[in-house]
Amino acid sequence: MRFARPLENLVDQLLKLPTIGPKTAQRLALFILKLPPEEARQLAQSILDAREKVFSCPQCGFFTDTDPCIICRDENRNRQLICVVAESSDIIALERTGYQGRYYVLNRNFRLMDDLDLSDFNLQPFINRLQGAR
Ligand SMILES: [Zn+2]
Repeated sequence: MRFARPLENLVDQLLKLPTIGPKTAQRLALFILKLPPEEARQLAQSILDAREKVFSCPQCGFFTDTDPCIICRDENRNRQLICVVAESSDIIALERTGYQGRYYVLNRNFRLMDDLDLSDFNLQPFINRLQGAR
């Protein structure tokens, strides 16, 4: 079944999201279609704001809209502990464990068993942090 072009465009955009299949994309599009116009505008604006205002913290690489991020600014965190993670999303999972140290995000997925070329990683900011943690 074909929808109106703007609705098909919305379904096509939602299909680009991870874990969203055709039925879910269609269901979400129909949900969005029923939102009051102001709520639909807020949803669209929040996507744009996140995309335009969130960047990687220069110190740790976590998602932030301030420099440095809220974790790097937190004076109560243990400065002697730095957990190196592959992706920012790993921090979200680690925060749920009660970990109170700091982080360094490689922003790069890798497998430990593969041959690693460390020159592919931007490690200088990490080394600088380690030296500053003393
Ligand atoms: Zn940070």
